[in-house]
Amino acid sequence: MTAPLIDPFARPISYLRVSVTDRCDFRCVYCMAEHMSFLPKAELLTLEELDRLCSAFVRLGVEKLRITGGEPLVRRGIMTFFRAMSRHLETGALKELTLTTNGSQLRRFAGELAECGVRRVNVSLDTLDAAKFAEVTRWGRLPQVLDGIKAAKEAGLRVKINAVALKGFNEDEQFSLTDWCAAEGHDLTWIEVMPMGDMGAEDRLDQYWSLDDLRARYAGRYRITDLPERTGGPARYVRLEETGQKIGFITPLTHNFCESCNRVRLTCTGELFMCLGQEDMADLRAPLRASTDDAALEAAIRAAIVRKPKGHDFDYSRQAIGGQMTRHMSHTGG
Ligand code: SAM
Ligand code: SF4
Repeated sequence: MTAPLIDPFARPISYLRVSVTDRCDFRCVYCMAEHMSFLPKAELLTLEELDRLCSAFVRLGVEKLRITGGEPLVRRGIMTFFRAMSRHLETGALKELTLTTNGSQLRRFAGELAECGVRRVNVSLDTLDAAKFAEVTRWGRLPQVLDGIKAAKEAGLRVKINAVALKGFNEDEQFSLTDWCAAEGHDLTWIEVMPMGDMGAEDRLDQYWSLDDLRARYAGRYRITDLPERTGGPARYVRLEETGQKIGFITPLTHNFCESCNRVRLTCTGELFMCLGQEDMADLRAPLRASTDDAALEAAIRAAIVRKPKGHDFDYSRQAIGGQMTRHMSHTGG
């Protein structure tokens, strides 16, 4: 038996998020600049290398794999990778294979994803207003995404909607988005905007809408019950008693969730980030490419986990950007 991955703070690492591309067919304002320069193809791990790396993590005890990006479904041949990962579901080593997507390609791929054993998808959707959607995603078109969500439902996938809470942008849609999710049978999670990438500091503070405020607004309209559910990540959940809906809040900036952190993040170039809010990373591409044997790779993964920090440094508390990150979310894969 291979010993599972346990970090120095006794946290078992059971969840790997993998960014399979830095590219995207959208240019969301809080995520990317309009004119991005993407990585040259030679820098990217091939689909075979991604398979080897993820399989090594599964061998070391990772039970949940979330595929993200960039937009994972724009990577050419990505279904080959999903098919490869489905073998770990079949053996029972992997408990969940899932993805976070902007939904634009779901009409094309939902059926195949379901065949590969994917049961749930997270779709990012900040507004149900077509003009606002085009504004916030720059290149996205709402009808295409709504049709993708429909295709996912038809394929039997559960859809969770992730909405970034943006002050002055979707504040007025808190309840309409909630009602739409209830009618469509989707769970809904709100995400606080994080200080990523190179947007000007003023822009970010302008966009910041505290989820405490969002929660208070729910409490003004519904009876809300805190749910004990924990996922090892920054999400907290409440139930709206009148509708039975579960609403999630991801507040990496205002709450400390690090003590239960069970996850690490792999970029499309094979960098392993032990914490979303810290710069430290381990290069796994070199040991991967140095040998076809996985011993060096496994040793590099173990050595990286030993460096997992206790917590992150994000801090908006003094209306200044503390612990600011220079990486884009599309690089570490949100
Ligand atoms: N393209 C896919 C998508 O949009 O779902 C997957 C990658 S995207 C980087 C993952 C998640 O990160 C999305 O839900 C997106 O809204 C969120 N995100 C991106 N930039 C963010 C930021 N600065 N603050 C908070 N969430 C952000
Ligand atoms: Fe693309 Fe997702 Fe970033 Fe939007 S949030 S630009 S869809 S990677």
